[in-house]
Amino acid sequence: MRKTLILLAALSASYYSMNAQKSEKDIIKNLEQKSTDYGIIAQNIWEFAEMGYQEEKSSGLLQQTLQDAGFTIKKGVAGIPTAFIAEYGSGSPVIAIMGEFDALPGLSQKAVGEKESAGAVAGHACGHHLFGTASTAAAISTKEWLEANKSKGTIRFYGTPAEEGGSGKVYMVREGLFNDVDIALHWHPGAQNAASAGAALANKSAKFRFHGISAHAAASPDKGRSALDGVEAMDMMINMMREHIPQEARIHYVITDGGKAPNVIPDFAEVYYYARHNRRDVVIEIFDRMVKAAEGAALGTGTTMDYEMIGGTHELLPNLTLQKVMHENLSEVGGMEYTTEEKAFADKIAKTLGQDKADLATAKNVQPYKTEAKAFGSTDVGDVSFTVPTVGFSTATWVPGTPAHSWQAVAAGGTSIGNKGMMIAAKTLTMTAIDLFKDKKLVASAKAEFLMKRGADFKYIPLLGDRAPALDYRK
Ligand SMILES: [Zn+2]
Repeated sequence: MRKTLILLAALSASYYSMNAQKSEKDIIKNLEQKSTDYGIIAQNIWEFAEMGYQEEKSSGLLQQTLQDAGFTIKKGVAGIPTAFIAEYGSGSPVIAIMGEFDALPGLSQKAVGEKESAGAVAGHACGHHLFGTASTAAAISTKEWLEANKSKGTIRFYGTPAEEGGSGKVYMVREGLFNDVDIALHWHPGAQNAASAGAALANKSAKFRFHGISAHAAASPDKGRSALDGVEAMDMMINMMREHIPQEARIHYVITDGGKAPNVIPDFAEVYYYARHNRRDVVIEIFDRMVKAAEGAALGTGTTMDYEMIGGTHELLPNLTLQKVMHENLSEVGGMEYTTEEKAFADKIAKTLGQDKADLATAKNVQPYKTEAKAFGSTDVGDVSFTVPTVGFSTATWVPGTPAHSWQAVAAGGTSIGNKGMMIAAKTLTMTAIDLFKDKKLVASAKAEFLMKRGADFKYIPLLGDRAPALDYRK
């Protein structure tokens, strides 16, 4: 932590000497000069590796950084202790930059080119330590520009916890915290630099709990009813159901409790399910059928069943007006060059991914702009994108070819490669935010596209219903 404290002092010092500067170029140059400082913040969060809704230290560090830079902090918003909003300025437009900081269970990894656990319970396999830090850096730089130019408008940083399965942003949207925002920006760590139109699958997830009767499994099995039977019967029916759902749909599950010992008939068992599709109405329909399967499974095995909604997110509503601006800015910033040391690390990682050599061109270049996007994962940014015009992009924070949620992603995220990708993101976000403050017409046309695409009769209904934030879903 000592490193962090020194760095915070350095950041506020550079902030106070900033006011003389005016141009966007100067702002970006100043941001570049703080690369090492922001790298230290990101690496601290990488080491904290805190999972969804448990991100006290990570959230605290970003709050402190923003507060020291002159932002006002509202913490514990939407009933989530680690969620917060940092704000600077007044009036419109209100530009929001989102930042995530949660890690994934398992996947602890050292920042080395081979699989080696760092001994922690979680790891930053989705790069959210870089995500939160780059967005923080961009919010601070944008604030410096607003201040230096005496511009009207509000810059906000949204500290959004528990993206991985916890649907943190959904509660913030449900609470109305985005209602007065004009445009929301985000980005995501990745294996390439790209600002093409994004897509994401809507999803619903729940924990199905079966309750049976315990008894000696050999001496009095007739007295027992196995809760695990309930889970297995449900799983079997769901696996049959796969044949009868749209083929782009995804269903996955893990048995989170299957009993404790073979000679005790389990009176409790739990299975954790996800259903996904690129249209939320399809997800809702599949999920309702999953509940029916669970009810049938309970009936047939003489057990009872209840379930708890855990997460639920909308698909992503792309905004091409904003996307084009983001792509132009990312192209202007450009990708990265690897040092000799980084190349050696990347080649090691590439070998574990079945490649001979790391594809350095992908890290260096920006992907051509595309408007057609295919969705693979889900994100709670989806709900934000149905509330305000939203735009995102990715940078090559990982060795090209690296899949998200892998040890290779954790490893690269803990090196200077991750930091470089993070700074590309911070600059691109800053430039886009400044464009929005400078150009009222751009904000207006982004809004017009948003309203047209969302449809006049749109009504926001969170897929996870009215449940309170699932603060203990990782426990
Ligand atoms: Zn992620």
